[in-house]
Amino acid sequence: LDPDTFAADSAAIVDFLAGYYRDVDKYPVRAADLEPGRLRKLLPEAAPEWGEPMERILDDVRRDVLPGLTHWQSPSFFAYFPMNASAAGFAGEMLSVGLNVVPFVWVASPAAAELEGVVVDWMASLVGLPERFLFSGGGGGVLQGSTCEAVVCTLAAARDRALGRIGHEGIMKLVVYASDQTHATFQKGARLVGIPPANFRVIRTTAASGYALAAGAVSAAVEDDVAHGLVPLYLCATMGTTGLGAVDPVRELGEVARRHGMWLHVDAAYAGSAAICPEYQGYLDGAELADSVSMNPHKWFLTNMDCCCLWVASPAALNAALSTDPEYLKNVVVAGAGGKPQAAAIDYKDWQISLSRRFRAMKLWFVLRRYGAGGMRAYIRRHVAMAEWFERAVNADERFEVVAPRRFSLVCFRLRQPPRPSSEQSDDDDVNRELLAAVNASGQAFMTHFVVDGKFVIRLAVGGAMTEMRHVRDVWELVQRTAEQLLQRQ
Ligand code: PLP
Repeated sequence: LDPDTFAADSAAIVDFLAGYYRDVDKYPVRAADLEPGRLRKLLPEAAPEWGEPMERILDDVRRDVLPGLTHWQSPSFFAYFPMNASAAGFAGEMLSVGLNVVPFVWVASPAAAELEGVVVDWMASLVGLPERFLFSGGGGGVLQGSTCEAVVCTLAAARDRALGRIGHEGIMKLVVYASDQTHATFQKGARLVGIPPANFRVIRTTAASGYALAAGAVSAAVEDDVAHGLVPLYLCATMGTTGLGAVDPVRELGEVARRHGMWLHVDAAYAGSAAICPEYQGYLDGAELADSVSMNPHKWFLTNMDCCCLWVASPAALNAALSTDPEYLKNVVVAGAGGKPQAAAIDYKDWQISLSRRFRAMKLWFVLRRYGAGGMRAYIRRHVAMAEWFERAVNADERFEVVAPRRFSLVCFRLRQPPRPSSEQSDDDDVNRELLAAVNASGQAFMTHFVVDGKFVIRLAVGGAMTEMRHVRDVWELVQRTAEQLLQRQ
């Protein structure tokens, strides 16, 4: 690594990105060119034999790659959930990538491991988690790449805790509970840790409960399973479901979990960021009954990909499932009596699946330091206010309806359909599909959809770092205009 080349190449990239962000609202939001295989046709069949100049590579990025990208940082990107980028997130990421250290065991990068411990504690306090999830309270947190990975780790910990009780052969009896709104990653995670697919209970939610998982329904399912000789293992409660932004009652579910010796995980991947505002902390009421909680700062907390906070009440349970202790990784310098590392020397390899790991703490620390808790609260509230405006606009237009209660910055809406006999209800709701397809094809905005109770629903997820009120007004006008054309044609 030649420091001068490094400085010149990095400066070129920073210039390139600054230009990109200046113009990001000029690109069609969803990839303009949707022809599969397009890029392969443009690129050579093999890697170059000799290195090429940076300008040439960047020219190819501009010409060949950018037109095939969906611009997640466009202010008119309202699809999925946001994936935030920020100057501080980028600066922190650049620093950690530049330093390129690997904090898998404490001695491999002591300050990196310790910074991670500090920022996860800061975040736990900001979102109002109980003391038991802080290192000082006997728990602790880790930064992983995604909720999916975090969920697999907690499922493995819960499984091993249960198997320790009932014996390894009991694995076929373990049951996981979730709702029909729970993210699909829990099903995948359960399969990965060996839970029989038939033992994954998907409990139905209804419009009456705002699509929240009812504790009574979980209780009934658990009691039925127990009566059949099965063993309740794990229950997932979500704060802010992916499809509709629904919130499960953490305390009530926690009580069911406690009664039956289940591990309770709270998945706050998206909406956890809102919990830094006191007005949303009530949604985590009962978190002291949970065994683990996770949220993704890379979604709505100005932290560039990737960054997922996972907190556990019992690091020992997590470590028991995930630790390895080969000689070549021992922290010889800090080994105390009996070869055990000191408590403060965290070996994060025992908190996750992989051994090698990124120094993610730096970017989250930068975000927290540059914007402060107050700045982040203002950021969240600004997006929620934009979503509230959109929700009011939808409600004021009698051709449309809001389909599920809006809790945070996600609005789920649709064009009303003429009433049909229930036998004809289906999810092939052509006019709303066409509406979404036409809006996205315009390149002026990008939204995605969900299907609930057989209804095709359009999701507007506000949360882009560059999104302003005018972008939300523009997308509403675009939706209205497009709907008018479609309805006239009908
Ligand atoms: N849980 C919820 C509620 C989500 O909305 C998502 C993603 O949108 C996930 C889990 C999966 O997150 P990740 O992509 O970090 O694995």
